[in-house]
Amino acid sequence: MSQDSKVAPARKPERDRTGGDRQPQNRYNATVIEEKWRVRWETDDLYRVDDGAPGEKFYSLTMYPYPSGILHVGHWYAFAVPDVIARWHRMRGYNVLFPMGFDAFGLPAENAAIKHHIHPATWTSDNTETMRQQYRQMGAMIDWSREVITCAPEFYRWNQWIFLRMLERGVAYRSSGAVWWCPNDQTVLANEQVLEGNLCERCGATVTKRDLDQWYFKITEYAEELLHEADGLDWPERVKTMQRNWIGRSEGARLAFVLDSGAQLEVFTTRPDTVWGATFMVMAPEHPLVAKITTEDQRDAVESYVEKARLATEIERMSTDKERPKSGVFTGAYARNPVNDERIPVWIADYVLMGYGTGAIMAVPAHDERDFAFARTYELPVRIVTQPVDQEALDPFTMVDAYHGPGRMVNSGPFDGTPVPEGIPEIISWLDAQGRGRPEITYRLRDWLISRQRYWGTPIPVVYCDACGIVTIPLSELPVVLPLDAEFTPAGQSPLVSHEEFLHVDCPRCGDAARRETDTMDTFVDSSWYWYRYTSPHNVNQPFDPEKVREWCPVDLYCGGIEHAILHLLYARFFTKVLRDIGLIDHGEPFLRLRNQGIILAAEGTKMSKSRGTQVGPDELVRQYGADSLRLHLMFLGPWDQGGPWNTRGITGMERFIRRVYQLVTEMEDAPHDAMEPESSETLSLRRSMHRTIQRVTTDLDDLQFNTMVAAMIEFTNELQGLRDSDVTKTTIWREALEALVLMMAPSTPYVAEELWERLGKPYSVHHQDWPVFSADLAREETVELVLQVNGKLRDKVSVPADLSEARARELAFASGRVQDYLGGKVPERVIYVPGKLVNIVIR
Ligand SMILES: [Zn+2]
Ligand SMILES: [Zn+2]
Repeated sequence: MSQDSKVAPARKPERDRTGGDRQPQNRYNATVIEEKWRVRWETDDLYRVDDGAPGEKFYSLTMYPYPSGILHVGHWYAFAVPDVIARWHRMRGYNVLFPMGFDAFGLPAENAAIKHHIHPATWTSDNTETMRQQYRQMGAMIDWSREVITCAPEFYRWNQWIFLRMLERGVAYRSSGAVWWCPNDQTVLANEQVLEGNLCERCGATVTKRDLDQWYFKITEYAEELLHEADGLDWPERVKTMQRNWIGRSEGARLAFVLDSGAQLEVFTTRPDTVWGATFMVMAPEHPLVAKITTEDQRDAVESYVEKARLATEIERMSTDKERPKSGVFTGAYARNPVNDERIPVWIADYVLMGYGTGAIMAVPAHDERDFAFARTYELPVRIVTQPVDQEALDPFTMVDAYHGPGRMVNSGPFDGTPVPEGIPEIISWLDAQGRGRPEITYRLRDWLISRQRYWGTPIPVVYCDACGIVTIPLSELPVVLPLDAEFTPAGQSPLVSHEEFLHVDCPRCGDAARRETDTMDTFVDSSWYWYRYTSPHNVNQPFDPEKVREWCPVDLYCGGIEHAILHLLYARFFTKVLRDIGLIDHGEPFLRLRNQGIILAAEGTKMSKSRGTQVGPDELVRQYGADSLRLHLMFLGPWDQGGPWNTRGITGMERFIRRVYQLVTEMEDAPHDAMEPESSETLSLRRSMHRTIQRVTTDLDDLQFNTMVAAMIEFTNELQGLRDSDVTKTTIWREALEALVLMMAPSTPYVAEELWERLGKPYSVHHQDWPVFSADLAREETVELVLQVNGKLRDKVSVPADLSEARARELAFASGRVQDYLGGKVPERVIYVPGKLVNIVIR
């Protein structure tokens, strides 16, 4: 035990209502207290997590940070608040895993390193050291012996191992095709990393397409499972919806239009009800059939158009701008519409993309905007096949816009009069039965492109051999180590190409000279399985010990930002399913419960920004007020899932609250307590209030309602303060109440709670204590039956809270309809109130 706790005051110190105290040991000093306990906890290894320790497991995970170099208050918001949940579970008897690591590979580290002319490895290791110190300062319950740093060969060798296992199963593959390219970051990107408007998710630059041979993960194979299993997860609905939309399942029909040459041109449509309105077809300029079907007299025009389209950017091609005329050219070929045998012209146009659907469409200008614009530009026919019901009929010659509202089918043979969209399933069955088309389900989701032409990532463990082709590095020879002496400034191809020693290797199969793959893996590969590694971080035989994963996983609570709704969370779910299929784990979903914290904004309500100086650094606040006050302040700002604007003033309120608790506890240290006092209405009332507070705090923690939880503790403290001069302070219930308050504060303010626990003379550590239990009976608001009399005769009864005020009791009596009947409008002479029992109204 430390010394100062034994220094007892000679007499009860005089109180100072301003919050301070004349006795120095009763003055709250956050710096001294926090330093004292930080050292003690680390010396005692208080937060070490033992596998198989008693208690049900609780895996509480927060998304690990990039080693950006400094934690700002946003990080505190993301980490300190989940730390409260982890601590609370530990007090409830769970064996809690609350690990931490660093997402150290990838563009942020590499770009920062380039900017600061320092090697990414040095930059990363400097930053992780600083950040680790900041986590310590925060008082987070992290077992650092389980730390995972993704740029360490001990970690990334398992990326390579998993990659090879996936390659073996055909889940990883190499393919050529048009891929997104960021000209600023000089690398390809996955579809998920391209934001709306074709902007790079990393740097915001406009991305373009390039034709390249790249490595992919076959996430589309899991589309259906990813879609359906999302339903059962306890995740914010918003995140589930974003994933559903990204996967983008659509039901429709596949139809084959037969060309004059006999070749078939397949199309997929989600609107098979409009097939009768198809007046022409359009193929993507890259469609493999274009060269085959183009007639001689159209060949020159088609070839020059195809060449021009290749140079256009995807953005130009995808534009839905109605004002911009669509460009295209006729191939000279015709195809037959399978539902009415009509012969329609086949065009090529750059608004149809090869990577979507079949690379060809049936154009229904009356009901599709882009087809309409194209038809008007080239004077192609427009045919209405859906007429709206309650508005003026559409006229194909005068309409200025495509119509895609509901209505009834027209010009559609056997389906005339069928309502749409309700009739679509019927049409799909008919097409199927007639052999004119078949039902099909398509997804928006594309396979995950994982190769990057950058330096700071996991080397992809394959070599290219002239004789053997693609050859994998044997599992036993992993890791393929990323050389630290490479020139890493991006130049459009992987920097590793110019590292001769890395590049040249003997083929593992034939022994001849071969070249290593020089692309590295997308950093999202690391974050797709890192939490499994925390369960056995030092395992040298496997990515993780399946036994340990069985013990700890799936993760019970995952906390992180909404910005990861699609990318990381979709990839992580995909990896989990792959690892399950490989046989390493036996569950299919990694995170049972997901919660997103809100964003802490700058004081003026805008996004915090380093450049505008609106970013708030926690270090100075900790120096001034202590980590405990900052933790509380973040919880009290507002609902955690909503965030809100920062306000420095609020933190002083939290510090004042802690100061008040500190004083209440320390001034009572040596007060005599009469264990045998009879229960009085004051002690009973304090007991009730204590149980009610425990109940509120417990329920709020369960619901992650941190702001109302803090409010409950503040209210309770105010109540205790109001009793400081009463005899209640001499009773055991007073002491019980103080102990309960300290225990309730332990998850939120771990330092001061530990200090006060010691001052109460209780055994170290408060963080090993049981969470206080409330009695539902005592916590319940006590109610009594209030008798309402008129001239001493019972007229009505109402159920009321026991501590009802006289004014309220009178109000209730006069509000009673029965009482009113007996009063008959007379003015009462007097009203007698017996507290908690009756109201008697006397009239003449
Ligand atoms: Zn970029
Ligand atoms: Zn070979």
